[in-house]
Amino acid sequence: DKRVVIIGAGIVGTNLADELVSRGWTNITVVEQGPLRMPGGSTSHAPGLVFQTNASKSMTEFAKYTVQKLLSIDCFKQVGGLEVATTPERMEELKRKHGYATSWGVETHLLTTEECVALYPHLSKDIVLGGFHIPSDGLALAAQAVQLLIERTRKAGVQYLEHTPVTGFVKDDDTITGVITPNGTIQTDIVCSCAGFWGVEVGALAGVPIPLQPMAHQYVKTTAVPKQKGRNPEPNGATLPILRYQDQDLYYREHGDRYGIGYYGHKPMPVTAASLGPTAKNVSESNMPSRLAFTPEDFEPAWKLTQEMLPALRDSQIAEGFNGILSFTPDGGPLVGRAPNLEGFYVAEAVWVTHSAGVARSLAEVLTTGKSTIDLSGAELSRFEDIQLAPDYVTETSSQDFVEVYDIIHPLQPRESPRDLRVTPFHARQKELGAFFLETGGWERPQWYDANAKLLGDLPPRWQPRERDAWSNRFYSPITAVEAWKTRTAVAMYDQSPIRRIEVSGPGAESLLQRLMTVDVSRNAGTITFALMLDDHGGVRSDVFVARLAKNLYKLGANGPTDVAYLTREARLQSSTDSRRFVHVRDITGATSSIGLWGPRAGQVMGSLSSDKQLAEFSPMRVTRTHIAGLPVLLQSISFLGETGWEIQTSAENGQRLWDAVFQAGQSHGIVAAGRAAFNSLRMENGFRSWGTDVTTEHNPFEAGFADAVDTSKADFVGRAALVRLSKAPLTKRIRCLTLETTGTVMMGKEPVYLDGQAIGYVTSAAFAYTVGRPIAFAYLPNEVQEGSRVEIEYFGRRYAATHGVREARL
Ligand code: FAD
Repeated sequence: DKRVVIIGAGIVGTNLADELVSRGWTNITVVEQGPLRMPGGSTSHAPGLVFQTNASKSMTEFAKYTVQKLLSIDCFKQVGGLEVATTPERMEELKRKHGYATSWGVETHLLTTEECVALYPHLSKDIVLGGFHIPSDGLALAAQAVQLLIERTRKAGVQYLEHTPVTGFVKDDDTITGVITPNGTIQTDIVCSCAGFWGVEVGALAGVPIPLQPMAHQYVKTTAVPKQKGRNPEPNGATLPILRYQDQDLYYREHGDRYGIGYYGHKPMPVTAASLGPTAKNVSESNMPSRLAFTPEDFEPAWKLTQEMLPALRDSQIAEGFNGILSFTPDGGPLVGRAPNLEGFYVAEAVWVTHSAGVARSLAEVLTTGKSTIDLSGAELSRFEDIQLAPDYVTETSSQDFVEVYDIIHPLQPRESPRDLRVTPFHARQKELGAFFLETGGWERPQWYDANAKLLGDLPPRWQPRERDAWSNRFYSPITAVEAWKTRTAVAMYDQSPIRRIEVSGPGAESLLQRLMTVDVSRNAGTITFALMLDDHGGVRSDVFVARLAKNLYKLGANGPTDVAYLTREARLQSSTDSRRFVHVRDITGATSSIGLWGPRAGQVMGSLSSDKQLAEFSPMRVTRTHIAGLPVLLQSISFLGETGWEIQTSAENGQRLWDAVFQAGQSHGIVAAGRAAFNSLRMENGFRSWGTDVTTEHNPFEAGFADAVDTSKADFVGRAALVRLSKAPLTKRIRCLTLETTGTVMMGKEPVYLDGQAIGYVTSAAFAYTVGRPIAFAYLPNEVQEGSRVEIEYFGRRYAATHGVREARL
């Protein structure tokens, strides 16, 4: 029975204790610095609004489970949720929201002004254009739930220590072994930090960076509203739906005949938890560390806007208010899972009440079974790049997230600041070519190049860009058509530098990779193998190009920082158990650069770059160390786009020269520099699934169309037993490629797919396929949807016909 210490008795820590208990783990101590009856964290004053619908499927699923669980312990008032629109843009946004709510299985309804007012009579008819109703939303009684969960887990043997701050940790090398408090040290195998906005401080004690920014956010209660009299007999009672007025950063709930108003429209107010001092013994409603003094001047606009939206409140006043503290993160997601650099240390922080039970269940599953049923890729603590852990970055991006919390954000919209954090060695050249940059993981990545606009006139009619709908036309340029056309008919160069490159070296390299990869990677040096990494349950952890350079040296083309963390940990464990199988894992992405040279004329360009005639003869999945244009390079014959060509890699300092050499050699063959927009369209035409959007740990290789990348006849590897089981079970759903009948509507991902009027799946990614002349979309659909089946995709409230099957796409 593993010993677990949970830090924090808020809604997250107590739910985690409960979820562990229900899975049979009871050797648990919960350590809380405040009094248990009211610990003084964010939960102690949370008004508890639960709006479940989120653009992220996982976040929606966390929320759905929270509702279900709180209902089961009688701590949820299911009054429903209503979001109103006062601008046409918001109305469109609500339609989009209705789409992804449907995709994630939440019943919602779009309402007219009249229907909104019928549901919520206080609303001002003159300014509401329409609304979005979610009948299953409501109010969490969070503080009450905490008390119930403490009571029930105590009965199961969980120990609670109150007034006990954690002040340090005991470590044995890189493994946690104990938790230090003023009352003594607690020996433990596992620590789960559920310290809410104190997460940064607790992480620092353990040497684990936690990218979280505590922020103050205003909440007020009004005096009694005369029109509410007698409506809700209990002081905290509520019967009207919880209400969001996002155009003005406001939300509302009833507290009996009073109103509670939350406001995000004020300036960001970052706070440092350490500055709040120790939690007092006598925590009370008005004296708790998470509650700062109210600054009425920041609330002024909110009160005026409220009285316009809810005229009934003109007969009331603000009775009390506070600036409450809650957590923000650089990408708005929570922080969940294993610390990448400390064995036995886990976190569940930056979690709203809304997602609390769902996140707690996922972490309990990770601890007890090794895997969360809900995909954690957007929640993992290990998802951040090093640069994103810098405190300045965390503060700036979290402040921006605060400002934008209710804004309408386009899926491609880049942050405005900080920018130019990570630039590849080609950056100066890209700017000269008029690159339009988007940002991911701190990298500046060209989306298209304005220099190619001059070729628009050369496009054959079949390749001409079509008019698009306004939403998909944002962060888009018709120049993409040129870049796609050139890749398919001549040759293009793509900056692949930000794609993860990992070096695995040492006498244990082969055995590590054989244990983690789904196919045999022991082949000779010079070969590249496409493989998957699975979890123990057969979910796809990542897809990887494994290039063998020498007996004890591999280079992987992989995905995000979570892959680096996973491989590093597995290497550490292997090396420490058997020193003869020592293996070292190194992220070499920033130290190297990479150009994807693809297209029917790629071989001719290579011929101009090197006198070695053999190099220009394309033979797929080979890796060669050689020199071209006087530079040492690694040539990898792989393509994501369905064209022949190479990834040409060199160290970072040689990058600019390599770019110049390729660009120069390509001129007589019609080369263009091409951006991510063309890449995305062409990879989809080629049926290439992108990990993180099209495939996650939620999917097994058969569903994800990766049957060719697994080999159950291979000796043991992680996930093999599950894979054998899955290979015998009937397949219920599968990723499919859909071709739209319209040409002018390009989906962006997450839209629901209907068959015979029933929602049966959702789009993972979509693009305009220039080779086909129509938009295409990938979607997980039940098996009965076969080649030629006709379905519909909902986009902004309208349904568009699509057919499974496309000549070019291979899904
Ligand atoms: P907390 O409740 O803060 O619990 C963390 C606990 O850890 C604390 O009790 C603390 O004392 C303890 N701790 C910290 N450090 C140590 C240490 N070193 N040793 C021992 N113990 C320690 N969310 C919603 O979903 N809906 C809403 O409507 C909503 N409204 C909000 C309104 C306001 C004004 C605010 C401020 C927040 C709101 N939130 C809302 C957010 C929500 O309150 C929080 O996200 C949630 O309560 C966090 O729960 P938690 O358990 O992670 O943290």
